[in-house]
Formats: sequence, structure tokens, C-alpha cells
Amino acid sequence: MAANGSTVLDHGVVLRALRSKTTTLSLDNTKIDALPPSLTKLTFLTKFSAKNNSLTDHGLSPTLKSLTKLCAINLGCNKLSCLPVCFMEMPELQNIHLFSNEIEQLDEDVLECLTEVIVLNLNGNLIDHLPPAIASLNNLTTLGIASNRLKFLPQEISHLSSLVELHVEDNQLQHLPSGISQLKKLTRIYAQKNKLQSLNPLISCCTSLRVLDISSNQIQFFPQELGEMKLREFHYELNPLIPFIPIPSSATEEVLPLKELICRRLFTILENDSRLEVIVQSLPEVRDALAQAGKCLVCDGPFVNSWLECVKFIQAKKIILPLRSPSGLIPIRIMLCSYKCLNSGDHDYYGIATPPSTNDIFVK
Ligand SMILES: [Zn+2]
Repeated sequence: MAANGSTVLDHGVVLRALRSKTTTLSLDNTKIDALPPSLTKLTFLTKFSAKNNSLTDHGLSPTLKSLTKLCAINLGCNKLSCLPVCFMEMPELQNIHLFSNEIEQLDEDVLECLTEVIVLNLNGNLIDHLPPAIASLNNLTTLGIASNRLKFLPQEISHLSSLVELHVEDNQLQHLPSGISQLKKLTRIYAQKNKLQSLNPLISCCTSLRVLDISSNQIQFFPQELGEMKLREFHYELNPLIPFIPIPSSATEEVLPLKELICRRLFTILENDSRLEVIVQSLPEVRDALAQAGKCLVCDGPFVNSWLECVKFIQAKKIILPLRSPSGLIPIRIMLCSYKCLNSGDHDYYGIATPPSTNDIFVK
């Protein structure tokens, strides 16, 4: 502890708190690297803050352990490298702020004890993964883990059934897990400044979602399901979206692989004769292939492993609730069964051309 800090804290702030029996104490900006030992007498504290100091893991223990009645703790902007183990003995802890520390890993044993926590703010640390034990935080409404080193989110995030706000911006995420579709209360997702190459279509299952920020990623087009969402804010700038630059198409009908032709034919036969269903169910490979079948948006015909990836462009304001409608065209992914359907001309879908030059352009 800083030499002056010890005197001031022991005989000043802490003693005053002891006399007044206050339940809230702040040691913010006091330049301490360890908590004053006299703090152990304040066992009645429910809110404690010591942000903007130089506190280390060692500097917290064993003093902090005495504050077993804490509901809220703010140790942001310090030098902590892990979740304090004494959190395991604070059963009423609901608000935890540990932003801007040096935390690299989250102890699973500690996480498993944080079942009452509502807000967990770990923004600005060095965390490279969320362990499966994150599933224990089933009362969590706000998870802040922005500006860390996450490369992925675990499927266990699907257990955070109370989650309303998710901050994962400024990480290295390449995709959002399908488990996110289970979060029916999720209202706001901030995932800007990552490495997302696509938007998981299952995000449309988050029926409460109103704010989605996926700006500054690597997304070229969006899933069709985007049109089913009721977003009030949709931030998608600074993505390499495919531009609307139509050029004539010279593409002709392709020759499909034999397996694809058989699957498409089988699919059509099955639609008209359900008696064959029993046979297909006994052939796992065929059954699995047919289970993946998609439907061409032009001819309604099936496709299994071969399709033509296309886009349609819709006005952004058509898919966002009118509160903050952005302008511009949004490319939406569309799949067609063949060039024949693409070239039929009776639709607004565009094939994606990749000429030898640097920019993608369109053919129709
Ligand atoms: Zn078709």
C-alpha cells in the first residue's frame, strides 16, 4: 500500500464508515495497491468500490474476504489478473465490475458460485475464452466482455436465459454461436469490431432483439432471416458489403454432379409418394443428405449440395423499425438451384461475379 494511503484510509475513510455504519464505501482514486486491513471491520458493507487504483490479486486478500454481505463491487481499472476467489463466499453478489484489469482467465470454480450475479463487467481485459461454467450465471442480464481476446463464444452461452444485453465488441470473433438463438430476452447485441464473416441466421430466433451492432466486421451479405427481425437499430457500416453494380451475365447452364441429380430427383419423388419415406429412413446417408435440402426461390425445386449463391438487395429502411432507419441497400443471401433459374429473368436476384479484378460485381 502507498505510504500515505495507509494512514488516510485507516484513520479517515474507513473509521468514518465504521462510526456511521454506512453500507457503501468508496476508495476510488486513492493510489492504493492493497486494501487497508481495517476494512475487515466493515462487515456490514453492501456496496464497495475501489476503482482507479493499483490493486493486485495479492492486495485484495485476505481483507476483501471479510465483506461477505457485498451486493455490488467495483474494482475497475486496477491490476487484477483473475476473478477474486473470495467472491465464492459472497452469496449476495449481484453487480461485479472488473473492467480494465489484466484478467487472462476466468476460474470455473468462482464462476459456478456467481449464480445471483446480474451484471458482470469484464470489458478491457485479456480474456481469450469464456469457460463452459459461464452457464452457471443464469440470472445474468448484462454481460460485458468487450475489448478482450475472444476468438469464439461457447455454446454454453445458451444457458444465460436472463441475458438482456451482450457486449462482445472489439474481440476476434469469427462467428456468433447458434446457442445464442436460445436467448429469448436478449435485446441488445454489440458485436462491432470483430472478424465476423457472416451473421448466424439463427439470430432471428432472438425474438426480443432490438439493437444489433455488427459494424466493422467482414460480412459481405446478410441471411434472409434478417428481414424477419424487428430491429430498432441496426449498425452494419464498415463491412465489405457486396455493392450493387449489375453487369450482363455470360454464365450458362452447369453440369451437376450425379449425386446431386439423384438427390434432387429422390426429393421430388418423396414429395409425391410418402411410401418411400420408410426406405429413405433406413439409409442414413441419403436421409442426412435430403435433410439438408434447400428450396430454390425461383422454381421451388430442391437442391442438396450444389446451389447458386445469389443476393437480392433491399432497402435498409424496409427491415428496420422506423425509429432509426438507415438508408442504403442491404445485400441479402439467396440460394437458387441453377443458372437456368438465375437466367430466367423473372425475379430480382443477382448472381455474384468475381472477375480477375479486385472488386466483386454482379451479373444477372
Ligand atoms: Zn430453381
